[in-house]
Amino acid sequence: MAVLEKTQMLSDGKDKTIYNTTDPDIYLMEFKNSVTTNDGEKRDEITGKGHVNNEISSLLFERINGIDIKTHFIKKISDTEQLIKKLYIIPIEVVVRNYIAGSLVRRLGLDEGTPLYEPILEFYYKDDELGDPMINTDHIRILDIISQETEGEIKEIAFMVNETLNQIFSRIGITLVDVKLEFGLDIKGNIILADEITPDTCRLWDIETGKKLDKDIYRRNMGDMMLGYREVLSRLKSIRT
Ligand code: UDP
Repeated sequence: MAVLEKTQMLSDGKDKTIYNTTDPDIYLMEFKNSVTTNDGEKRDEITGKGHVNNEISSLLFERINGIDIKTHFIKKISDTEQLIKKLYIIPIEVVVRNYIAGSLVRRLGLDEGTPLYEPILEFYYKDDELGDPMINTDHIRILDIISQETEGEIKEIAFMVNETLNQIFSRIGITLVDVKLEFGLDIKGNIILADEITPDTCRLWDIETGKKLDKDIYRRNMGDMMLGYREVLSRLKSIRT
């Protein structure tokens, strides 16, 4: 690869900044130290968060690339930066759940931590003004976001990613409670796993103690979130082959 440099900023999100690069097919994604709650009530800068999340996401995407699921991840190029493939991002968040937690506790009145005998998949429409509402197959069709065929393929890939993550995390004594995934389309129309997989976007509990190792530590004022994030990273590194 020729020397590649970052050029104009493309988007400045809550957790990450995306830049164009001198290669028209490649973006540079920088992980920030900021952390916010969905409702915007809390906002903080946490030293080291961008670095740790970049490392965690890079390790997980490398594993997923390795099992023949297409992802946007190319390589980590610095503590907080990685190169990714340029995609059209589908405006849907796909949540896969293995245990009851978060909004499902509020919505269904079930106890946090109740195991699901099979994973549940939910779609959310990415629209800040609407507050990312949950949508179903009919809404996706009416909104004309993606074809039914693409939706079916996304579901299949999302369950495969969940299964792979379950295997990785169970090897390091962590329960994957739920995970939020995003997908994009490349120029050929291939469905590509995008965005990040970090303790910001998954719920991760220690298998032995049930201790939370994810963003709920911050959401619920349960102490130093970086203790959890660093624990996840050091366990992931311990099984690096
Ligand atoms: N999630 C996310 N971004 C969002 C909303 C949710 O990454 O904008 C993740 C969240 O961290 C959790 C999973 O998706 O791992 C399910 O979130 P849930 O619907 O329970 O919402 P929450 O309780 O976080 O509001």
